[in-house]
Amino acid sequence: MTDRNSSGIQAYPSREVHLGALEIARALPIRRRRMVGPWCFFDRFGPVSFGEERPMDVPPHPHIGLQTVTWLLEGEVRHDDSLGYEAVVRPGGVNVMTAGRGIAHAERTPVENSGRLSGVQLWAALPDADRETDPGFENLAETPAVVQAGGIIRVFSGTLAGATSPARHYSAILGADVTVHPGAALSFDLQPEYEHALFLLEGDCAFEHQPVEAGMLVDLGRDRTAASFISRGGGRVLLIGGPPFPEEILMWWNFVARTREEIAGARANWESHRHFGEVMAYPGPRLEAPDLGRLAPPNPVS
Ligand code: MN
Repeated sequence: MTDRNSSGIQAYPSREVHLGALEIARALPIRRRRMVGPWCFFDRFGPVSFGEERPMDVPPHPHIGLQTVTWLLEGEVRHDDSLGYEAVVRPGGVNVMTAGRGIAHAERTPVENSGRLSGVQLWAALPDADRETDPGFENLAETPAVVQAGGIIRVFSGTLAGATSPARHYSAILGADVTVHPGAALSFDLQPEYEHALFLLEGDCAFEHQPVEAGMLVDLGRDRTAASFISRGGGRVLLIGGPPFPEEILMWWNFVARTREEIAGARANWESHRHFGEVMAYPGPRLEAPDLGRLAPPNPVS
């Protein structure tokens, strides 16, 4: 599924990246697909089993202009930020951090852990009108689930199948985790003004009878009024969407901005310990920003 076929579906391979010891499939941004609705970044990490070592350990680093959404299938991730929030997210719950004009955070596998880690991290770009909003953080221990005969739909961002996540967002958005039981079918309505994409999380799953390939971002395009899934052995897919983002964004490192000057300013603030605050709860050194020389507008992503 590399070319858009008669059903309007196009699939793009994710990129392998490394975050410390953790292997990651980066589904967004990729060269041919920068965003899906307001979603501008999508990392799939795990599943991984571990012993004494802790697979996730991302030291303090800054963000501007976006929200981070951490959603787990297995295990736990501890968040600490420069506002003083500390929270462990577990499967069924969600962490949503609003960077707004600036925040710093660290994410790591906590000392008390299950020895498993599997999840995703997504970023949603903030619209221009809200980019300078106050930073904030929400930890939801539970997200709404819709149970159907053929499976379970969990909604962590936006509304789907009659369920609405209480997580605060700044533009129309959808993020959901769809489980299809073995040998079952599942269907629900979509917002036709949204663009949507799928990513296989576990098992096997077919969308409109076309297999969702592992490691691929499956772009469903716009104008769909419904989605139907089937699975042979049971499967799970992430469904993301939203209205096409109406603004051009510039991404560099952990910043979502509009101009190079903003990026350079945010980088300078971080490097000189201004503006973002410190993550006091993290025991080690923070991340240093990469060299700004790598900022090239046509392909701005680290
Ligand atoms: Mn981060």
